[in-house]
Amino acid sequence: MYAKVIVDIAHSQVDRVFEYSCPENTQAGCRVKVPFGGRVIEGFVIAVSQTPSFAAEKIKPVTSLYDELPALVPECFALMESIAQRYRVPKAASLRLFLPSEMRLGKVNEVFEKRIRLCGDISLIGKAAKKQAEAAQLLSTGDTDFTSLCNKCGRVAVNALIEKGVAEVYKVKRNRTPMSGGGEGFEKRILTPAQKAALDYIERSDKRVQLIHGVTGSGKTEIYLNIIAEQLRRGKTAIFLVPEISLTPQMLSQLRARFGSEAAIMHSGLSAGERFDEWWRLRSGEAKIAIGARSAIFAPLENIGAIIIDEEHDSSYRSETAPRYSTVDIATLRAEYNDCKLILGSATPSVESYIAATEGRYGLVTLTERINGKPMPEIIIADMRKEIKRGNVSNLSRALREELEKTLSSGNQAIIFLNRRGYSQTVICADCGYVAKCENCDVSLTYHSEENCLKCHYCGAKYRMLSACPDCGGKHLRYSGTGTQRVVAEIKELFPSARVIRMDNDTVSGKDGHYKILKSFSEKQADILVGTQMIAKGHDFPSVTLVGILDADMSLHFSDYRSGERTFQLITQVAGRSGRAGSKGKVVLQTYSPENYILRYAISYDYKGFFENEVKMRKAALFPPYSLICRVMVVADKDESALEALKKVYLAIEEIRKSDSDEFIFLNKMHSPIKKIQNKVRYQVLARLKSDKYLKDIYDIAVGASNADALVYVEENPVNLS
Ligand code: ADP
Ligand code: ZN
Repeated sequence: MYAKVIVDIAHSQVDRVFEYSCPENTQAGCRVKVPFGGRVIEGFVIAVSQTPSFAAEKIKPVTSLYDELPALVPECFALMESIAQRYRVPKAASLRLFLPSEMRLGKVNEVFEKRIRLCGDISLIGKAAKKQAEAAQLLSTGDTDFTSLCNKCGRVAVNALIEKGVAEVYKVKRNRTPMSGGGEGFEKRILTPAQKAALDYIERSDKRVQLIHGVTGSGKTEIYLNIIAEQLRRGKTAIFLVPEISLTPQMLSQLRARFGSEAAIMHSGLSAGERFDEWWRLRSGEAKIAIGARSAIFAPLENIGAIIIDEEHDSSYRSETAPRYSTVDIATLRAEYNDCKLILGSATPSVESYIAATEGRYGLVTLTERINGKPMPEIIIADMRKEIKRGNVSNLSRALREELEKTLSSGNQAIIFLNRRGYSQTVICADCGYVAKCENCDVSLTYHSEENCLKCHYCGAKYRMLSACPDCGGKHLRYSGTGTQRVVAEIKELFPSARVIRMDNDTVSGKDGHYKILKSFSEKQADILVGTQMIAKGHDFPSVTLVGILDADMSLHFSDYRSGERTFQLITQVAGRSGRAGSKGKVVLQTYSPENYILRYAISYDYKGFFENEVKMRKAALFPPYSLICRVMVVADKDESALEALKKVYLAIEEIRKSDSDEFIFLNKMHSPIKKIQNKVRYQVLARLKSDKYLKDIYDIAVGASNADALVYVEENPVNLS
């Protein structure tokens, strides 16, 4: 028997198929260890055959075979090529996507429990062997754990029983997956007519991809759950992606309650062992629904009946490490392979997806009403320029204070959103203008009041708080820009009896940090939740009737074509947390540019208006999807290695431009906006092209320019231009 093997080295020089002889029970999809260049390394069997494809005596045997059940499903091999070609990575790198990292290199393995049972004639036990008789007696009531039996009756006696053939040990796989918690309180809901119509439409539509555009609280989740349940009834499996499941404990317990152990939930709070076991539960068919963030799109399921991507506009669906895939692209490939539907859902679909729907490439379902006809919360604009004129220099506008007071006195809850953690954005010397900066990164440091230190939000470095300016020795240090810690302090001063909790990267450390904070808030152990964009996503807190958005402007002023879209999405999502149950909700939106058209569309929940305007603008200015922005990043330890690679990339792309200048809207090379992160210098070539005609060439150029000293990679329509 012979195996075609891809060795687990993601390097273009060994990006080929190698052949080895292998044991009879080898199957495609198994992992093997093989001799390779003087070492033994891991590899993936992609096919087996009875006859070798070249001289048999030249073929080496595999060193060992890992899996009884192939770890990779057949679909992996079909997708391997497409992914490798699309993102220009070696085949090994695309196969790796399908295996959780803890499975590679034997880092984590299954755990087995050693158990013991009777298997022979008890009369073989001698009369004098009291302990043996006692052990046999215990076993006659049922199998037990080997170690605990030894503890009770002594290891000598237990071993004697085994030697006599009276008892035998066996192994069972132990599952580390925690299924405790959640699970209770699920009741089947009667679907609303709008939900029923949505399900019918999706079922009947012949389009591969379906977009559900439903306002926040319109019951999209219930639609997803019905789609999944229906696929299970048909004997199929399903993938359900959410941006960050650990941020939405309600969703978790709802899924557990509804699907029990049929759902494998992969969230960031799992240990490596737990993730490994969840993965095998899917692979073995014990679990049929894969639920998780971006990487769950590679779940080892066969016979998929539906793939669902909730909050499809979320930027976490783009991978930021190689291969830099878009989850929707991979999901489309899997949906085609399995001949099933891909359902995208959002209250604020990405402009790209909505264009696809209006052009008829995607099916479109629109839900305009909240469940039970609850009104959308009213959004009030607070003009912060006027506040300053009135002498209010705090971070809370008068309107927000008044609304907070009302909310607290009526026993309801409030959420305050601010997209910056820490106390202040920077520390500035009032005498000379010195700004405290990170030594490893080209960014300013954030002051954290609780630990009284300065932190770098890019590399995590901590510095002692300054007592004087290191440049001029001046003592007048100013805190500029507001972070969540400062807002909490201000609220506590204004409302001393209110219970305030904070949720951001500094407070959610630990395995279930998110969960604890959200749970205590949902149990009304706090009145006000202050947090970063973590609190914007999908939460359903019935008692929240007020949402304050402190810095809606911040994302507006980023110089990238998506800033308007991002601001619109953020406001709509955060506002959607208010007034989801009984009482009507309110939102106070603080801004320095109240006349901005994006804010105007957001406060009237006018997605269509926003969309049409955005499309007009992007068409006129030739921004994606009416063009393609390619950023080729060059990251290196030393300036000279970076510049050398940068020049190579630029000249090669320039060469293409010379031959077809019409295709190029823009081409430039420069420092990246953040010049250094973690002591690595960063440069970029930025190209805006009319189409993806030369995308593949640009990938090739990047691969060709990458070397041991400089990492070069391509980002398509990058989400983050820093
Ligand atoms: P979305 O995902 O669109 O934001 P959700 O699915 O969270 O909306 O639904 C909003 C609220 O309405 C939730 O509290 C949910 O439990 C409730 N809900 C959804 N569908 C129904 C239904 N058919 N009957 C009663 N309540 C429902
Ligand atoms: Zn740093």
